[in-house]
Amino acid sequence: MSYPSEMTAVRLHGPSDMRVEQISHPGPPGPGEVLLRITTVGVCGSDLHMYKDARIGDDLVQSPVMLGHEFAAVVEEVGPEARDGFDHPLTPGMRVAVDPAEPCWRCEMCEQGHPNLCLRLIFHGTYPGQGSLCQWMHMPARCCFPLSTAVDDTAGAMLEPLGIAIHTVDLARPKVAKSVAIVGAGCIGLLILQLAKLSGATPIFISDKFPWRLELAEKYGAIPINCDEVDQAKEVLKATNGRGVDVAIEAAWADHSVQAAADMLSFGGRLVIAGISEDDRLTLQHSTVRRKGTDIRLVRRMKHTYPRALTLATSGMVDLHTLVTHRFPLGKTPEAYELNLAYRDKVIKIMIEV
Ligand SMILES: [Zn+2]
Ligand SMILES: [Zn+2]
Repeated sequence: MSYPSEMTAVRLHGPSDMRVEQISHPGPPGPGEVLLRITTVGVCGSDLHMYKDARIGDDLVQSPVMLGHEFAAVVEEVGPEARDGFDHPLTPGMRVAVDPAEPCWRCEMCEQGHPNLCLRLIFHGTYPGQGSLCQWMHMPARCCFPLSTAVDDTAGAMLEPLGIAIHTVDLARPKVAKSVAIVGAGCIGLLILQLAKLSGATPIFISDKFPWRLELAEKYGAIPINCDEVDQAKEVLKATNGRGVDVAIEAAWADHSVQAAADMLSFGGRLVIAGISEDDRLTLQHSTVRRKGTDIRLVRRMKHTYPRALTLATSGMVDLHTLVTHRFPLGKTPEAYELNLAYRDKVIKIMIEV
């Protein structure tokens, strides 16, 4: 097979410094790998963190990095022993959704069934792991999940945030006719809402400061709360006769939103934190969660949730397309990031089309 010598890539060089560049083509895939031609890449809240500060937590960007961990692609070439996430052989031409996390499958955490906590995890799209904001890349075949015609490339790229939402709801364990509050109605919050609804939880409250997100949340069956206009925790307590909700899920920027979620909870309730904090600090009033005996859980990536995400997307049980509000070509990725960061133009989810 012959390859072009160069390809277009979008790389982050430092805070708010993203450049459209020509870099070398990755060439043929190695054993267990595939060469992917990227079709669609989602822009995620964690990408915005990376873009703004060129770091996430204590991971600093030290050389140019391609972001983009939510993506769909076409298999262009397969290396020896290229078997997908279902352990079936991959062949060129297949459309796939890609799990950006590459666990080692051998460390203590992997052995115990927690690949999301892998001690040697390579993550494609967070420094130093290179992501998919480019035309071609290598990935382990095992990270690839073939898509049927019922799931288009946009939905394929949405399987990653949907997988995170599934893992979040697995940790939150909502129950039929038990109450849930979600702080943050961004892409992840709106996916969590749809899954909580499927689980039979009711009522479901959701808060955000952007009215267009709350409008959509209401269509999905939630009780919307504009946290810019009212005290969101007080509002939830009022609506539950002072009791609070059984489960509160933080899906915003993990700042004051964490305390707000804790304040909404009933005694003995469960707090699940899915957001990532900008200053790398988690702030909670100790007496609030101690007196309530709050069960606190943090979301770290996801477990083997792609097959379940695929089932939901194929069956149409979860709406993925309404969440995608904007599309940009690869060469306009820096503009897409600026628009998203400014929360202009009723943005929920942006897709980059390669
Ligand atoms: Zn993401
Ligand atoms: Zn491992």
